[in-house]
Order: sequence, then C-alpha cells, then structure tokens
Amino acid sequence: MIPGPVEISPGVRAALDAAPPGHLAPALIEAFGHALSRMREVWMAGPDARPLVVAGGGTLAMELAVANLTEPGDRAVVINTGYFSDRIAEMLRRSGAVVHEVRAPIGEAPAPEAVEHALEASARGGAVKLLAATHVDTSTGVRVDPAPLAALARERGVLSVFDGVCATAGEAFDMDRLAADVYLTASQKAIGLPAGLALLVASARAVEARRRRRAPPPPLYLDWEAWLPVMEGYEARRPGYFSTPPTSMILALAAGLDEIVQRGIAARVADHRRVAQALRAAWQTMGLAPIPRTAQLSANTLSAIRFPDGVDASLLARVLDRGVVLAGGLHPEIRSRYFRVGHMGYVVTRPDLLERTITALGAGLGDVGHPVDTAQALAAADALLGAA
Ligand code: PMP
Repeated sequence: MIPGPVEISPGVRAALDAAPPGHLAPALIEAFGHALSRMREVWMAGPDARPLVVAGGGTLAMELAVANLTEPGDRAVVINTGYFSDRIAEMLRRSGAVVHEVRAPIGEAPAPEAVEHALEASARGGAVKLLAATHVDTSTGVRVDPAPLAALARERGVLSVFDGVCATAGEAFDMDRLAADVYLTASQKAIGLPAGLALLVASARAVEARRRRRAPPPPLYLDWEAWLPVMEGYEARRPGYFSTPPTSMILALAAGLDEIVQRGIAARVADHRRVAQALRAAWQTMGLAPIPRTAQLSANTLSAIRFPDGVDASLLARVLDRGVVLAGGLHPEIRSRYFRVGHMGYVVTRPDLLERTITALGAGLGDVGHPVDTAQALAAADALLGAA
C-alpha cells in the first residue's frame, strides 16, 4: 500500500507471464498499437495528440518533456507543491531555462492569482515558454486543480506540462478539454503496472515547439523526433525500431489500459475518489491528521498523514508485522513527522485489501501506545465504500 509500485491485477500479471515477444512479433505490434490508442482514451487526448511509451521511470517522462521543450534562455514557471516539483524545476534549470517558482505552505497549493502574478513577473524578462505543475505531489498528497493553470498558460501562449505520475488514471484530467500540452506518468502508479515505463502524451502544439527548436537537439534517447515515428508506426500497426521496447511491459500496458477503459475512465477515477474518501473517513475516526489542508486539496491516489503525538516511524514496522507495507515521509522539511498510504490502481477494486490496511494500521497504532477504535474506522470506511 505504498504510493507505487502498486499491487497489480491478475490480468496484468497474466500478460507479464507470456513468453517475451520480439519487437517485430505480430502480437507485440498489435499490443503496442492498441496500448497507444488506449492511452488517448485514458488521457482523454484528441486525435492530434501524440502518445509516447519509453522504457524508464517517471523521471525519464519528466526529462522527455523538459529536454524537448526547453531551450537555453527559455523562461519557465513551476508551481511547486513539493519534492517532485523541486525535481522538474532542477531539470528545467539544467536545460538552461530561467525558472520562476510559485510556492505555497506545505499542504497547500498556490492560488491561481499567485500563478498569474508569477507568469506576469516572469514575462517581464521575455516570453514565457512553459508552465509546469505536479498534478498530485507524492510527497504531500496535495492535488492541484489543473484547469485554471492550463487556462492561464493557454491564454498566454505558454506550454503547460503536468506531471501526472501519481495521478494519471486516478484523478480527473481531460487533456483535450484542458488544452494541456504534456501529461506524463509512469507505469507503477494508478495505471497499475510494475515500474518500467515512462508514458507521455504531447499536444500538437508541443510537438510543433520541438520541431521549431533552434538550439541543438536534445540527447538522442530523449529526442521526440527519434521516438515519434516509431510510435506512429506501431499505432498504424507497422513495426519500427529506434531502441528495443520492453516487450513484456508493452503487453502488460495493453492489458492494464484495457481494464481501465473497460471500466470507463470516468468510473475508474470515481472509484479512486470514493476509496480516498472512505480511507480519509477511517483516518479521521482514528484521530489522524492529513497533510493536505482541505478535502479539495487531498489526492485520490494517496494519503499523507501526520504521526500522532508521541508516535514515530516505528509505527510502520508494527503495521508491516501485519503484512501491510506503508511508506515513510518524503518531503525533506517534514520527512520524519508523517507517513504515506498509497491507494491507487488495482487496490481500488479490492475493498478487502483496503480493510486489511485499516485493521493493520489500527493494530500498529495500539502497539505504539496510541490505541484507536478500529471497528469504528472500518465502519466509517465501509459506509462510503459501499456507496458505489
Ligand atoms: N513525479 C511524481 C509525482 C512521482 O510521484 C514520482 C515517483 N514517485 C516521480 C515523478 C518520479 O518517478 P520515478 O520514480 O518512476 O522516476
């Protein structure tokens, strides 16, 4: 129950069990093409948008966006809600961008007015190229609302890049309606696969910005120009080659995205929302305080929870004694004061695993001298989990 890698479904596991196909095998060509078109559905991206699948992690997906869209001297605004926003700001700086960060206190997100001011302040030095935000920051459990941010960017001709690593398929994001330019993720979170794939959809505007680049091209492995023809080919069921794809993971991706689309992306996001509300109700009856300041700011995909007074990270070992793995803190300023529970992907279809998590946490809290009424917490969660 960590915020990724997550439990995987039996269907995804079965796909991974198949003998690894070659990258030109008919079964792989079909699965790759199918997965790319399924990405459009899950991202809610239009026909002009371009999906990309590259072996690697979420950090590679971020780098694929930054390296292609940033030229030395470009101006960029980063909405900084925690650890992974720091990371994209650092990448932008390394790509030569002049970065303006907008921050909020831990547990909050900057107001759209603050973002507007930052865009204006940055624009005084020249045209702003890019606005970046972390949809859900995994270090705080804070979710930003992408709609006003994408709109502010669009009004100004600024490209908007959203890190959806801890969000995509678990939080609402309609790429076409938002007119967002990049929405990126990794396989090990709400998509519901093991770690190993960087997944990204770029708008036609973003692809055009790469084509018009005047600076030297990005490193070859990162270059969209190298990857996009291969992706286009597979989507048209024509194999291509730039670098060998992780074929077993592509089979798993097709299976995992099929499960999401068969449920329906809106229903799948609603499942995540309902599970998050149920678990938050359980934490509340246990007297636990979340890091995000409001329910609106609280992600569907994970809970970041303060340790009660007198309790420390030894709690996690006591929960592990009951067979449930939780994650420690990640945000450098509060790392030892809170812990995290992931609730994304396949587990949202498994109330038994969610109940087991509540029971294990309740027992662990008792062990460390903070007894809680676990039955009451389970009842609070069940009342909401049952409301499908
Ligand atoms: N962005 C966010 C929001 C993340 O949660 C993570 C991983 N936890 C990353 C980026 C980086 O992904 P990876 O660890 O796969 O490189």
